[in-house]
Amino acid sequence: MHTKHTSFGFSTRAIHHGYDPVDHHGALVPPIYLSATFAFPTVEYGAACFAGEASGHFYTRISNPTMALLESRMASLENGEAAVAFSSGMGAIAATFWTLLRPGDEIIVSQTLYGCTFALLHHGLGEFGIKVRHVDLTDLTALQAALSPATRMLYCETPANPNLRLIDIAAVAELAHQQPNVTVVVDNTYCTPYLQRPLELGADVVVHSATKYLSGHGDITAGIAVSNQALAQRIRLQGLKDLTGAVMSPQDAALLMRGLKTLGLRMDRHCSNAQAVAEALQAHPAVQWVTYPGLRSFPQYELANRQMKLPGGMIAFELKGGIETGQRFMNALQLFTRAVSLGDAESLAQHPASMTHSTYTPEQRAQHGISEGLVRLSVGLEDVADLLADIQQALAKCSAANLRPTTTAAYAMK
Ligand SMILES: *Cc1c(COP(=O)(O)O)cnc(C)c1O
Repeated sequence: MHTKHTSFGFSTRAIHHGYDPVDHHGALVPPIYLSATFAFPTVEYGAACFAGEASGHFYTRISNPTMALLESRMASLENGEAAVAFSSGMGAIAATFWTLLRPGDEIIVSQTLYGCTFALLHHGLGEFGIKVRHVDLTDLTALQAALSPATRMLYCETPANPNLRLIDIAAVAELAHQQPNVTVVVDNTYCTPYLQRPLELGADVVVHSATKYLSGHGDITAGIAVSNQALAQRIRLQGLKDLTGAVMSPQDAALLMRGLKTLGLRMDRHCSNAQAVAEALQAHPAVQWVTYPGLRSFPQYELANRQMKLPGGMIAFELKGGIETGQRFMNALQLFTRAVSLGDAESLAQHPASMTHSTYTPEQRAQHGISEGLVRLSVGLEDVADLLADIQQALAKCSAANLRPTTTAAYAMK
């Protein structure tokens, strides 16, 4: 069997890429190499490994056969040359930043970012002399004005967490690359390569929290960075090996490869379930607004259609009555689980202002487009009728409460 499988479709590569059972005693599923260190046949060979002249594995913080297979699969799915695996998404993001940025450099970032990425930028990089500039990347004139000879990186999430605003990757990458030495990095956690491939649109590095959709089962934390060969090698030998040491374990690599086998199937179901939930929310009188890239009312509907294969599994919305009604809604949910994270088989609901985005101050949240009453849903893989029934019964409780004056008696009646 041809193990590169480059001409095969997405799901075929997610299942087979880089592996031939014939090379592994016929084992259908790749073995897990639980070894921290690897034997050198001779001293000379060991020296060549350390000098980077031989390509063998020698210590698992640098490389391991199980992670190497996962990395080649992820590189194939993102259509990049190489990938580096990490113990978490933050490991991948921190290693990419620390490898590519130095004091005096400037980084341009989108307005809304995952809470810990925001904290890393402001409490980490900012304090080490790297200038962080938040720019509304939907405004190319603002980007043009922010770019300077000191700009070394443009970093964005699209759709943004948690408000789902989109950034036109091709447009910002083209503009950013007019300055020499700018690396364009996209966090592709929300989409996965099944829905969106930033490298094909001009980005240089894709980072992932593989904890989410890529693993898909909520049982590991993991991260991935994908890029060309040269950048991946730098991120591996500096960011992973020396600067963070955020090494994935071989067992987690195996679990992640198990998740990848069903990525396409799962994303199709996440998206169709989310579409139905978003439409039900939009039709309900208790709902103030709902943001989902698959709704015609979505402000960037055209861009979503052009850039993403399907609209994704994440929904943001706010109820009339704001934060208090939102909390009542969340407490009334019976099938949706109140939890952070996303991309699991289980549907999840969370409140960013008090949970994932509590690293922002209230002023920063207002400035970055995260309203205090925003509820974020990660729509899972359950039967859509059950999800809709749960949403409807929880909404019914909120709207009934809304009709009454908000007296103590009304609150006591729950
Ligand atoms: C969860 C998440 C991260 C961080 O990943 P971890 O695996 O939790 O370290 C980064 N970016 C986005 C968009 C996320 O959702």
